[in-house]
Amino acid sequence: MQLLSLTLDGFKSFAHKTTIKFEEGMTGIVGPNGSGKSNIIEAIRWVMGEQSARHLRGDKMADVIFNGSTDRAPLNRALVSITFDNSDHYLASNFTELTITRKLYRNGDSEYLINGQKVRLKDIVDLFIDSGLGRESFSIISQGRIEAVFNGKPADRRAIIEAVAGVAKYRKNKETAEKRLSATMDNLNRVNDIISELN
Ligand code: ATP
Repeated sequence: MQLLSLTLDGFKSFAHKTTIKFEEGMTGIVGPNGSGKSNIIEAIRWVMGEQSARHLRGDKMADVIFNGSTDRAPLNRALVSITFDNSDHYLASNFTELTITRKLYRNGDSEYLINGQKVRLKDIVDLFIDSGLGRESFSIISQGRIEAVFNGKPADRRAIIEAVAGVAKYRKNKETAEKRLSATMDNLNRVNDIISELN
């Protein structure tokens, strides 16, 4: 699996559609202060499902939409697409190339797409959950997060180790199963109440 390209269109300072192609090996992004280097990293985080505006240095999610400059009016929509070579099927999909797209409109409407097909956020999260990528992963370490890891509580550090070890998926599955079990128990209790009323 290899990151092939990233397209930003109306995302933060990227008012114009901009595509960055990643070659094999290491890529460095350089530029003056405030030129948008961190915005590129945040675009990667966002397209992979980030739900916290705060993690993207905003107050609300609409802050990711280009909000105008001296020579350009604000835009109504942010779009980011990321393309991976998935010929080794590292990501759980039959596609050999995967393009994930996220769009957000000022009225709050949003869309996620995988290879042009509309999908749910859950599908994006599931695609990355076992990969070491994704919104909660440590493949992207932002400024200040290293300090937070060192100063974190043991339970927080455990969550990090679980995420890195790939057991986060099982914890999530367990939580879903527990919720279903609890709902089933409620239904069962209701049935028992009805049976005793009828008796
Ligand atoms: P540094 O080297 O100082 O860390 P950087 O190259 O990482 O800087 P960023 O932090 O990515 O730069 O970009 C900051 C710029 O993005 C600021 O000029 C800010 O005004 C602009 N910006 C952020 N959000 C938006 C938005 N929604 N619309 C337009 N511009 C935005």
